[in-house]
Amino acid sequence: MPNKLVNVFDVLIVGGGIIGMLTARHLHSEGYRVAIIEKSNLGGEATLAAGGILSALNPWKQSAAAQYLIDEGRQNFFSLVEDLKQETNINSEFIQSGMLVLDVDEKQAAQEWARQNNEVVEILARQSLLEHEVNISPIFKEALYLPNIAQIRPSKLIDALQQSLQNNKIDVFENTTVNELLIETNKVTGTATQNGNLYAEKVIVCGGAWTKNLFQENSDIDIAPVRGQMLLYKLPNKILSHIILKDKSYLIPRQDGHILCGSTVEHVGFENTITQAARLTLQNIAHELVPSIAKIKPIKQWSGLRPGTQRDVPYICKHPQISGLYINSGHYRHGIIMSIASARIMTALISNSLNTSHIATYS
Ligand SMILES: Cc1cc2nc3c(=O)[nH]c(=O)nc-3n(C[C@H](O)[C@H](O)[C@H](O)COP(=O)(O)OP(=O)(O)OC[C@H]3O[C@@H](n4cnc5c(N)ncnc54)[C@H](O)[C@@H]3O)c2cc1C
Repeated sequence: MPNKLVNVFDVLIVGGGIIGMLTARHLHSEGYRVAIIEKSNLGGEATLAAGGILSALNPWKQSAAAQYLIDEGRQNFFSLVEDLKQETNINSEFIQSGMLVLDVDEKQAAQEWARQNNEVVEILARQSLLEHEVNISPIFKEALYLPNIAQIRPSKLIDALQQSLQNNKIDVFENTTVNELLIETNKVTGTATQNGNLYAEKVIVCGGAWTKNLFQENSDIDIAPVRGQMLLYKLPNKILSHIILKDKSYLIPRQDGHILCGSTVEHVGFENTITQAARLTLQNIAHELVPSIAKIKPIKQWSGLRPGTQRDVPYICKHPQISGLYINSGHYRHGIIMSIASARIMTALISNSLNTSHIATYS
């Protein structure tokens, strides 16, 4: 029987980034009474800062377990965006822009990955590269072309998900910080917030970079903030069509002429601020890839804290000691593309229908 009391839920989700929002939506569709508790605004942290590339940066370097999560995202993101568009009238701008990878020393690994996974990687010589991107720097004589890679626009996806949660009457407590988890004899009973307690038999921590703060200091959960900064350009004409990637830095062209340049990887704790040094680094990257950008001033710079981990996969699992407590976090650089699989796997875990190999892989 679903709970009817106002502060009692079947499942409480701590953190309303993409992982928390999609997990809530998935659980709701399975009949659970869910609430999200978010310390600031839905999607306002790492999710809003993201580029929205629907791929690993170098897919051939991922473990099989990471690739599994990424593949599920690639297969299902278009439908998610279409469903949300139908439901909310908000378009999250799924575009299959393709990705040009300029790290041609990875050619062999990329081709092997393509062969094994039935993917497409074309090797473009200079002339062909120019036919794809006329403005690319003359220093690049060759590129790997992945035509099937797509992107979405995170700010739009957040708006659409927020609207969907509202349409489905899923409870959301914004500007509400979970100060601690309520635990009685090794069983979670809810959360304590500055506005009072909320209760549930199950609590999922989707706290992104802040996840570890809710666990004891000696907990061996390996999640720590890794700052990423981005620059945004607005060009009068569309000068780029594909995502361009080199050494894990990238340019992402949007439909309306905006171009994003990202991103730094900085271990500076919870300092979520922009810096002049990062601005210069990113400007140099943009100019190196597409020299004509040098004439344009960036219109915006921002930063976000990724939920970094040394592991090759996120935690999508039960807490090993505390009954009813779950973690869906640690997606580091791939939280957008891994979000669909993470939400599905967590829902299966909550309803005890997850197969045992998955339980072991993402614990
Ligand atoms: C610059 C940058 C570029 C990126 N580009 C891409 C990309 O192109 N593709 C891709 O797949 N991924 C990308 N990522 C990674 C992706 O953004 C993250 O992996 C993903 O957003 C993580 O989602 P999340 O919901 O776990 O975290 P978040 O979006 O950070 O959400 C966690 C939420 O939990 C809340 N919270 C934490 N603790 C508490 C508490 N105690 N009480 C209440 N609320 C709490 C926070 O306020 C936050 O809103 C990028 C990240 C950055 C920073």
